[in-house]
Amino acid sequence: MTAPHTPADLPGRIQHYIDGEFVDSVDGDTFEVLNPVTNETYVHAAAGKKADIDRAVAAARRAFTEGPWPRMLPRERSRVLHRIADIVESRDARLAELESFDSGLPITQALGQARRAAENFRFFADLIVAQADDAFKVPGRQMNYVNRKPIGVAGLITPWNTPFMLESWKLGPALATGNTVVLKPAEFTPLSASLWAGIFEEAGLPTGVFNLVNGLGEDAGDALVRHPDVPLISFTGESRTGQLIFANAAPYLKGLSMELGGKSPAVVFADADLETAIDACIFGVFSLNGERCTAGSRILVERAIYDEFVERFTALTKRVKVGLPHDPATEVGALVHPEHYEKVMSYVELGKSEGRLIAGGGRPEGFPTGNYVSPTAFADVSPDARIFQEEIFGPVVTITPFDTDEEALALANNTRYGLAAYIWTNDLKRAHNFAGAVEVGMVWLNSNNVRDLRTPFGGVKASGLGHEGGYRSIDFYTDQQSVHITL
Ligand code: NAD
Repeated sequence: MTAPHTPADLPGRIQHYIDGEFVDSVDGDTFEVLNPVTNETYVHAAAGKKADIDRAVAAARRAFTEGPWPRMLPRERSRVLHRIADIVESRDARLAELESFDSGLPITQALGQARRAAENFRFFADLIVAQADDAFKVPGRQMNYVNRKPIGVAGLITPWNTPFMLESWKLGPALATGNTVVLKPAEFTPLSASLWAGIFEEAGLPTGVFNLVNGLGEDAGDALVRHPDVPLISFTGESRTGQLIFANAAPYLKGLSMELGGKSPAVVFADADLETAIDACIFGVFSLNGERCTAGSRILVERAIYDEFVERFTALTKRVKVGLPHDPATEVGALVHPEHYEKVMSYVELGKSEGRLIAGGGRPEGFPTGNYVSPTAFADVSPDARIFQEEIFGPVVTITPFDTDEEALALANNTRYGLAAYIWTNDLKRAHNFAGAVEVGMVWLNSNNVRDLRTPFGGVKASGLGHEGGYRSIDFYTDQQSVHITL
């Protein structure tokens, strides 16, 4: 292993950003942020609590009630968002370097995520200008139309996987629609979020519209969820946390958008283009270190091609290049944090008794420190195995055979999750029928995890509530008031 890379000009400490100022926590408390390759503390971040959330919400509320942002024309807000997109794009290399360093993601994949973050802003900048609202006429009797209004202070709570991109997925529509925001990024990966403030200032976002409070979920996150002046919470994270937030927000009757966990099936039928399907299955579970909500982490394979699939999948898994996150040749880097590493490793150990280990199964050779897990695959996994049922969120995959379409569907639906499914078959009718019957929010037919930003994004069952993406995001972040006029 060559030496790990440390980016130049790392901040000396990570602060909150409230009302246009970088500030420490009211009580001065901080938490340690670890480098996932060494697990050494590389910076301390301000540990926000209720008092810090109160300050941030007060600033955001002031910017909403008194500031220009909610009252600007969509076209004017759109210009600011386009400037944000341009700045993000112009800094993609730096963003990727910091994100890769902080999260352990391979640098080439972090670069793709930085560009996608710019695209998210550009997309919502365009969408808000093109926005049309319903108007209905009953000739001679009545006219009805819709007033669309920003709601207020949006609380955005985000996870540590591809943090900058996922933050942009919420910030883009929340700001485009004229809301002000308080962002609470994940405590494992606060580094890239600290860049938003400078980007927004440079793009001309008015003071107080964007506020950032770092800290633990049970402190800063919880205070945001329970704040009475925050009418909206958009949350992405684990299903368990989503349940808790749902309960804690209930007394305040907040708008909630929940993007939660997944255990998505990749279903490979015997008539599929096998080479493409295997490559896509490898990408689907091992890209982004397997720390991807839509990872195809349960592969179901028709028995006629099962042995061949397993053999070829094993060979390719063994060739996936584990390496230092900053190395452009790396395909799987270090997992985000030692706590998460322990969780993933516990599933790897469990898998040895629940399935047939065909690749990986522990720490890769040559990586004595850091959160490294070999790309790991288990074959012959039964649907009642925990590794089949539970989200592992790492480079670990199960493979299970099936005999009929009905069995494939039953297996695909046999988890509490329902985020995504990938279907590989050249039978058109089967593909569409299966897509319609599988209980998930998003289906990819003979294709990889590439999205059109206009489409709904979200899961069913334990994978989420509500959809974001395209106009659904605009709907979530706005009130739609109907106006009726008798003619
Ligand atoms: P997590 O639920 O542990 O944390 C997510 C965020 O919630 C963090 O900012 C955390 O500090 C905060 N939080 C924790 N407890 C809280 C509480 N009681 N009140 C308020 N906030 C609280 O999730 P994670 O481990 O950071 O992320 C991984 C999970 O996210 C996986 O389950 C993954 O599938 C899911 N995810 C889903 C999507 C999607 O779009 N469906 C996308 C990415 C990740």
